[in-house]
Amino acid sequence: MNEKERELPELLSIIIPVYNEEDSLDKLYEEIIRVLTRNNYKYEMWFVNDGSSDGSVDKIKEFIEKDSSVHLISFRRNFGKAAALQAGFTHCNGDIVITMDADLQDEPEEIPNFIAKINEGYDLVSGWKYNRHDPLEKRLPSKLFNATTAHMSGVKLHDFNCGFKAYRKEVVKSICVYGEFHRYIPVLAARKGFRITEIVVKHNKREFGKSKYGFERYLRGFFDSITTTFLLKYYEKPMYFFGKWGLISMLIGVIICIYLTVLWFMGHLIGQRPLLILGVLLIIAGIQLFSTGMIGNLIVDSSYKSHYSEEHIKEII
Ligand code: UDP
Ligand code: MG
Repeated sequence: MNEKERELPELLSIIIPVYNEEDSLDKLYEEIIRVLTRNNYKYEMWFVNDGSSDGSVDKIKEFIEKDSSVHLISFRRNFGKAAALQAGFTHCNGDIVITMDADLQDEPEEIPNFIAKINEGYDLVSGWKYNRHDPLEKRLPSKLFNATTAHMSGVKLHDFNCGFKAYRKEVVKSICVYGEFHRYIPVLAARKGFRITEIVVKHNKREFGKSKYGFERYLRGFFDSITTTFLLKYYEKPMYFFGKWGLISMLIGVIICIYLTVLWFMGHLIGQRPLLILGVLLIIAGIQLFSTGMIGNLIVDSSYKSHYSEEHIKEII
């Protein structure tokens, strides 16, 4: 590593979403601290408890007692990984931010490599689990999802959904994730013009607890790849999609009906013609598509305001 790559962040924030991971936390904390102190990083650690029902919170409170750089944000119930990350993004103070999973599948040893890449001038460095230790039924849909997302978005990453990432502060303060959108963070960041790259990271088998995403991931992966197509293009502006097809449908319907009206004025019978039904149908379908676009826009507008809220938080230490 050259001088530039070794440059230390002023403050490094580590954000870890936690949903029932009590057995992993001790080892995770110890390993992270070992890497951070060895590299002389000034750090803060934000554990976001996403409604765990096991002893995760007590474990984190133990860390807080001995280490004032550790913080806990605790949700009242399970709001999902994206909401947990967003809470961390909102509250962290570091100039470089690392997110990693709590299940020990990510290797803290990689943290300096992420920071070196950021120091090269990138705004977001995404992990790539090249040798992935997950079951096939998870890897396959994931491959499909990644290929579709990369193709649709033009962001050439191999592993969008990797929880291990590093960001410059500006990135986390300017994006907003909710629902399943943690998978699209690099896309959202790319849209805002941030520079993005990836590094290969070691990936471990899950030692304790179980994955929070079960077999439904298979189905989700499939649906995701379909919705990605739509979302990436239109998720901020559904009207562009529905409005366009609504207008086309209405226009064809109106042309057909004008044609039939002219015939009617010329004395032809039009009541029995299938074309009449088609014309009327196209107009009605057009109006419906148009209305769907309007409703879509309303939903986008209000969901931006309501999906993540400070009210999810029970306590911040
Ligand atoms: N997680 C979370 N809320 C959820 C699901 C998961 O905070 O609703 C956390 C979980 O505790 C872990 C990370 O997100 O730290 C990744 O979850 P998991 O390991 O289950 O995902 P996988 O590795 O199977 O993709
Ligand atoms: Mg995992």
